[in-house]
Amino acid sequence: MNHMAIRRYRRSTIRVEWLVCVAVLLAAYAFPIDLSFGAPADRNGANGQYSGKQGEIIVVTVPSEELSAQVQGTFLGRPVNFFPDPRTDEPKGYVGLVGIDLQDAPGTHELAVRVTSGNDSRSLSYQVKVLKEKFRVEHLTLPKNKVDLDPKGLARWKAEQAQVKQALAADSPMRLWQAGFVEPVNGTRTGKFGSVRIMNGKARNPHNGEDIGAPNGTDVVATNDGVVRLTVDHIFSGKGVFLDHGLGFYSMYFHLSDVSVEEGEVVRAGQIVGKVGATGRATGPHLHWGVKLNGARVNPYAVLDLPFKDMAQAAIASPSAESISAAGEPSP
Ligand SMILES: [Zn+2]
Repeated sequence: MNHMAIRRYRRSTIRVEWLVCVAVLLAAYAFPIDLSFGAPADRNGANGQYSGKQGEIIVVTVPSEELSAQVQGTFLGRPVNFFPDPRTDEPKGYVGLVGIDLQDAPGTHELAVRVTSGNDSRSLSYQVKVLKEKFRVEHLTLPKNKVDLDPKGLARWKAEQAQVKQALAADSPMRLWQAGFVEPVNGTRTGKFGSVRIMNGKARNPHNGEDIGAPNGTDVVATNDGVVRLTVDHIFSGKGVFLDHGLGFYSMYFHLSDVSVEEGEVVRAGQIVGKVGATGRATGPHLHWGVKLNGARVNPYAVLDLPFKDMAQAAIASPSAESISAAGEPSP
């Protein structure tokens, strides 16, 4: 599976210029355009130091013999939910996935971690160096009504944003994903993650996912196990599916022609969730694939490189929607 993922990754780095996804281009504001290169990332965590580029995922380990501790981190105001390290080839301990948002400020930031076990509590501090990523800059000229919403459209968009925010507010309290992430569609990766859009001369929100070109009706599959948290038909993203993989880890699939899962349904890696389409604001059939990690918009392809191969099954092998929806303490 992993070899296949890597092969696909390489094959799909071809860039296609013509494909324009306009899923998330509202709320124009100016931001600096970065044209510098970051140094190669050294993410081994030696001496409590980690580094990664904007849009990447850093894997942080906290060695511990204590297996019933609560381990919780904070990075740039966002939670980092640690879980028992499931890898059989690593020392015992806890592991957290730190998403670096595509717009996190370059520089060194603290990852503060608190380990609580019974009445004992200790604090750990790690330094995470965020390196600039060189995102593409796209200049687009589109008909005005394709860029700006009328008052009715704006009200709809705001309501849709609120709906998404509410649906993703309560993270499933346990890890649901397993080893072996899957590319959701066998298509042409465009390399548009993070690209800066200048539309009709105005800077817009950066592109927060990756577009994968594929013919209408191509199967779109879940990148990993999870629960369908939300299905939508939204003004920009069209027909879409939001999967909850637990502990603040979500994947999104937009512009579908057809959605084949229901809210609350448990899905497995590789299970069909819909078909490629061009619904919402899209100029041609493609999948917009997004991943959010505790609110950080990361490059979805980063999940294919996560170093989890030999690992134990998730805490609950067959999660039921009810058990996952039940708010509560994380399972030990
Ligand atoms: Zn897109």
